[in-house]
Amino acid sequence: MEKTTAKTVLIVEDETKLARLLADYLHQAGFATVWVDNGLDALPRVHEHSPDLILLDLMLPGKDGLSLCREIRAFSTVPLIMLTARVEEIDRLLGLELGADDYICKPFSPREVVARVKAVLRRSEGEAAVISGLQLDSARQRATLDGQPLDLTTVEFRLLALLASHPGRLYSRQQLMENIYPDERIVCDRTVDSHIKKLRRKLAAIAPQRELIHSIYGAGYKFEPPAD
Ligand code: CA
Repeated sequence: MEKTTAKTVLIVEDETKLARLLADYLHQAGFATVWVDNGLDALPRVHEHSPDLILLDLMLPGKDGLSLCREIRAFSTVPLIMLTARVEEIDRLLGLELGADDYICKPFSPREVVARVKAVLRRSEGEAAVISGLQLDSARQRATLDGQPLDLTTVEFRLLALLASHPGRLYSRQQLMENIYPDERIVCDRTVDSHIKKLRRKLAAIAPQRELIHSIYGAGYKFEPPAD
């Protein structure tokens, strides 16, 4: 089903007053909103509504924002803004490389949040367009290269979506494993290597000259389209 109406923002925030205030401002700016007041119900809502953006509070009952961010990133590149009550937290969060698109410190003005939401959406729409012929549709878990469908397994799709969400960023095998297996199943380094190998073979079958996924010896992998 194509979305033709308002973009939907999922608000994951346990402070009712704050969530209502955010929703009011977002509605005024033309967004639709869905609100969840705890960590446990967040993931089902993400699957149910395929939001265009998520505002995710760090401290939540049930499940914290850090874990949620990781779990969402395992299957989706949806733009995500973390909300935190402490400015010191932001440095720590940045260090964790959670894949959030932005961080906002409380107390904030709802106006500022709306501005950041718009900025992040603009940025992500630009990026989501097409990277070097690669197009990813996380909601449907479909990928095409030069318009040709890539027949990927779930793990291959997650790997590609994660790598392509931050072109040029190096991911260690450990980081890739944590992200593609959020249930922390024990897998060995070789498993990642073998998934990447298959993924590259599928990409090469369509564009043999275009190397998109690079392995950095002893360090991991990164997605980097060739320079024009
Ligand atoms: Ca909270």
